[in-house]
Amino acid sequence: MRYSVFSLLAQTLRGHKGWQPTWRDAAPKPEYDVLVIGGGGHGLATAYYLASRHGIRNVAVIEKGYIGSGNVGRNTTIIRSNYLLPGNTPFYELSMKLWEGLEQDLNYNAMVSQRGVLNLYHSDAQRDAYARRGNAMRLAGVDAELLDREQVRAMLPFLDYENGRFPIQGGLLQKRGGSARHDAVAWGYAHAGDRNGVDIVQNCEVTGLSIENGRVTGVETTRGPIRAKKVAVAVAGNSSRVAAMAGLRLPIESHVLQAFVSEGVKPLIDTVVTFGAGHFYVSQSDKGGLVFGGDIDGYNSYAQRGNLPVIEDVMESAMALWPGVGRIRMLRHWGGIMDMSMDGSPIIDHTAVQGLYLNAGWCYGGFKATPASGFCFAHLIAKDEPHPVAAAYRLDRFATGRVIDEKGVGAQPNLH
Ligand SMILES: Cc1cc2nc3c(=O)[nH]c(=O)nc-3n(C[C@H](O)[C@H](O)[C@H](O)COP(=O)(O)OP(=O)(O)OC[C@H]3O[C@@H](n4cnc5c(N)ncnc54)[C@H](O)[C@@H]3O)c2cc1C
Repeated sequence: MRYSVFSLLAQTLRGHKGWQPTWRDAAPKPEYDVLVIGGGGHGLATAYYLASRHGIRNVAVIEKGYIGSGNVGRNTTIIRSNYLLPGNTPFYELSMKLWEGLEQDLNYNAMVSQRGVLNLYHSDAQRDAYARRGNAMRLAGVDAELLDREQVRAMLPFLDYENGRFPIQGGLLQKRGGSARHDAVAWGYAHAGDRNGVDIVQNCEVTGLSIENGRVTGVETTRGPIRAKKVAVAVAGNSSRVAAMAGLRLPIESHVLQAFVSEGVKPLIDTVVTFGAGHFYVSQSDKGGLVFGGDIDGYNSYAQRGNLPVIEDVMESAMALWPGVGRIRMLRHWGGIMDMSMDGSPIIDHTAVQGLYLNAGWCYGGFKATPASGFCFAHLIAKDEPHPVAAAYRLDRFATGRVIDEKGVGAQPNLH
């Protein structure tokens, strides 16, 4: 079903009785040309671009839970392309450009909101580092503005500018950054993939990979074996577990990252702000809740829940930046499993097993990458060569030393 003002009008006249499900809940077929493991944002986007851009339509996405149950439905929804290094900048800028046309492309409202992302700086040295990043961004054709304290104060008067330890001196603003409704992104890609013939199979866990003479031939699942000419792994926090089914050991650790939402309050903050002296960032959802987060939990885990020390750490940073936030009540918090690569940058590559492809290592920044990740992974799978903007995301860079050590340019990357 295609959504439009006409379909809305027609359904209104029929009392909204004729809406179809957003995508079919498909049963697995015995064989596919490409089988994507993982129904998160990256897996769904990959399947959609395989079908829509490369005409490969005999594709399945195999998801062990329900669509949106992984990180795609758990993140804090920030999108941006404010990267420094040449290995990253063109990739994330491609993603930003895809976000800018995504809703028309998918025929789905993902509530993409370019409300700006502001990274605060608190010292002269940090200002210089941000100026360098902003200059690198502008040279690469990405928008960036370095703001002084008064310009930031005009935007966000309620922050603590005179904090004894971390006075705010200014910020680096990317106006085209912002947020998108995370689960609508999953639903949108599922909807658009389904319209292009992709089978989306939920509640089907991949338990093994079938490999013959060094080539993948399919997967074992809780709903029986499925043959496939090519198998693409896009399972985020479970990357090491699934790669181990092929005997591969990845340079990835799984950690929990927590997110928080407050009670709904009146409009307070119309941009995304990151604290530069601790790991804390905040925005406000359209429902009024303050959405914020911080650093990963320090220990490895596959549990989708976090622990109290990080909660305390995030709240301390929040109070240092914005003391008034202490008056607002917390509504809920949750955790997601992050695939932390050892240089903070992702992997989009072949593996040593023929026909087996890997998309992993997104750390805490993979949501903004969703469109470009799917786009470039589909390119790699369809053409058997890397997309030019993702050519640096090789698995062997940890052996050759060609790492892309940017660590996601979070609020305080050295905490990665
Ligand atoms: C709290 C939090 C905040 C975040 N904030 C941001 C942010 O603001 N901006 C940003 O850019 N990024 C953010 N991220 C990171 C981002 O969400 C992830 O990097 C990205 O979503 C990962 O890709 P994905 O959507 O494909 O992952 P997922 O949605 O996790 O998809 C992977 C899927 O694989 C499935 N799977 C695993 N094993 C198997 C198996 N054996 N068989 C079948 N299926 C399997 C899982 O069930 C899961 O649904 C955040 C993450 C968290 C947890």
